[in-house]
Amino acid sequence: MAANIPITVAYGDGIGPEIMQATLDILDAAGARLEREVIEIGEKVYLRGIPEGIEPGAWASLRRTRVFLKAPITTPQGGGYKSLNVTARTILGLYANVRPCVSYYPFVQTKHPTMDVVIVRENEEDVYGGIEYRQTAQMTECLRLISEPGSRKINRYAFEYARKHQRKKVTCFTKDNIMKISDGLFHRIFEEVGAQYPDIEKEHWIVDIGSAKLADTPEAFDVIVLPNLYGDILSDVAAQLAGSVGLAGSSNIGESCAMFEAIHGSAPRRAGQDVANPSGLLLGAVLMLVHIGQPETADRVHNAWLRTLEDGVHTYDVYREGKSSRKVGTREFAQAVIARLGQEPQKLHPARYASAASNALQREGSSENGPSEARKELVGVDVFLDFKSAEPARLSGLLQPLMADGLRLNMITNRGAKVWPDGFPETFLTDHWRTRVLGDKASPVRAAQIALLLGRMAEAGLDVIKTENLYTFDGKPGYSSGQAE
Ligand code: NAD
Repeated sequence: MAANIPITVAYGDGIGPEIMQATLDILDAAGARLEREVIEIGEKVYLRGIPEGIEPGAWASLRRTRVFLKAPITTPQGGGYKSLNVTARTILGLYANVRPCVSYYPFVQTKHPTMDVVIVRENEEDVYGGIEYRQTAQMTECLRLISEPGSRKINRYAFEYARKHQRKKVTCFTKDNIMKISDGLFHRIFEEVGAQYPDIEKEHWIVDIGSAKLADTPEAFDVIVLPNLYGDILSDVAAQLAGSVGLAGSSNIGESCAMFEAIHGSAPRRAGQDVANPSGLLLGAVLMLVHIGQPETADRVHNAWLRTLEDGVHTYDVYREGKSSRKVGTREFAQAVIARLGQEPQKLHPARYASAASNALQREGSSENGPSEARKELVGVDVFLDFKSAEPARLSGLLQPLMADGLRLNMITNRGAKVWPDGFPETFLTDHWRTRVLGDKASPVRAAQIALLLGRMAEAGLDVIKTENLYTFDGKPGYSSGQAE
């Protein structure tokens, strides 16, 4: 008999304790081999004055078990509370968020009866570092970070997932027609990694038109891999399209830890009434069983659950007069699933994790650093200024005399649009300016030249709010040009 696998469980807030109990009852009845450690997270912990919403000691349990089955929590109103999900993702290095969005038509109403899409969302980078600044009276900034190893990990994960789960196609969404460097990197790595999977179809869509296509024809997609912010938005859209926000589970996968949950929140208004649907958390637990190497039990649970749906045994959120046979509460729903363990659905596709797992290459989550070393040279600097006058010519007039020492003013932009030289009078101007300074020779610029330039700018009374060094990599610019440049 195989050993029990230690997992960490949190019952959460609102409907959390009820749906967690229902889920654990089903897992126990299905014969899941688990050794559970319970930790406390959420509202009570926040209100004890711990801004992360988790006791420091609870991390030890997570580090030990490396598997976290988490019920939804309530984040108290008011400032100062940190999102537990964001903290867990960052601290545990959970770089992949995986959300299967499946239609269960005709048992659950949807406009897209055959939809079966898995969203693989990058989970650590992009704007979620929360690196933001107010720079001038008028301007704010949010830093969007996309790295090569981050892009490689998530794209590798998406292709490995597709292969392991016998999916035929991986689609990448980016906006690399605009963000040629950051989204361009994500797209390039998608193509590079994808080339190693000749058995899997690959396609790339610009995220705007791709989203429109997803909303209109989700059947056209299989696995979709995308950067964090697009993934955040589109994974909710996809779950809603499938008709099943209350039914979807998700996993957050890292190199050494993984977290499994429902996609919905703690629904405080439904708490304590034995009405909530435990399906989202249960499907999260099914993903967990696959992850910890118990795919047969995952099949048993998932198929009994599908059969329960087919039999019309529904909680209030899915129940429809005339279509459903019985409206049940949380506990009764769990009992109905338990009564069907060993059965399979008759119309819906049965789950087949066990056979998929035996075909799988066990490379999911493998980390790798691709070749990213290139010859890097400093060639200039973008100096951002807070400058109140709406006169580009006046600004260039102030800057030109400061361009000694082998440096030259290349251009001035306002919100990315070039306004000097040869700007258009129609361009809207804010108090936030970028002045691009390059070396006046082909030779690289020295950091000391930039430091001296900044000193001259400060002495001239210019308000420098930030700088961005300009580098070339193997001679190719590592910075974008100005619009209309
Ligand atoms: P919610 O997902 O809790 O509820 C949205 C709607 O869906 C409500 O009408 C609710 O009654 C219904 N609903 C949700 N889950 C259900 C279920 N299992 N069965 C039946 N009906 C269900 O979203 P919300 O109301 O915006 O957020 C409530 C709280 O949850 C907030 O404090 C929010 O911060 C938190 N939240 C937590 C998580 C998480 O822990 N992962 C995720 C989202 C929201």
